[in-house]
Amino acid sequence: MSRPALFLDRDGVINVDHAYVYRPEDFDFMPGIFELVARAGAAGYPVVVVTNQSGIGRGYYGEDDFERLTQWMRARFAERGGRLDAVYHCPHHPRDALEPWRRDCPDRKPAPGMLLRARDALDVDLAHSVLVGDRPSDLEAARRAGVGTRLLFAPETPDAEQAAALQADPQARRIRSLQEAAALLETERS
Ligand SMILES: [Mg+2]
Repeated sequence: MSRPALFLDRDGVINVDHAYVYRPEDFDFMPGIFELVARAGAAGYPVVVVTNQSGIGRGYYGEDDFERLTQWMRARFAERGGRLDAVYHCPHHPRDALEPWRRDCPDRKPAPGMLLRARDALDVDLAHSVLVGDRPSDLEAARRAGVGTRLLFAPETPDAEQAAALQADPQARRIRSLQEAAALLETERS
């Protein structure tokens, strides 16, 4: 039977978005992220990361750097009682990437490709799933995939882009802390 999942954007949700992060020494975990992932797992949600990584396509770092950082990140969650069930990334960019990464990929958010692949691979009930993202493209990908609960994580006052995204998607909600997302998961499951 299909089950709801927790989808997480990476940069700006799991870690502070320092732009094109690919080394553990630059990877600063967001306050509350370990607790959110652990509580999601305990409540029965698979946790799925969906991240645009055009830094690969732009030639800033390689697939091997991304994989190494992902393994390191997964190990840090495991130490803190959490688990990332799957990590999807899109290395492409329609204009600003080198060959062979320059293409309009159906995985690159705001397209819903990564969410749909996760649905098929993990038998996810998207309508009852939750996504936490920090950019309009996250919310749009979730909306296009049919993810029922769309949360915009904006600890500071939303910037113009974030405010516009909330206006464009009246069903999306802003959260100020990742604890709010954890509490919401637990209420929805009970
Ligand atoms: Mg982000």
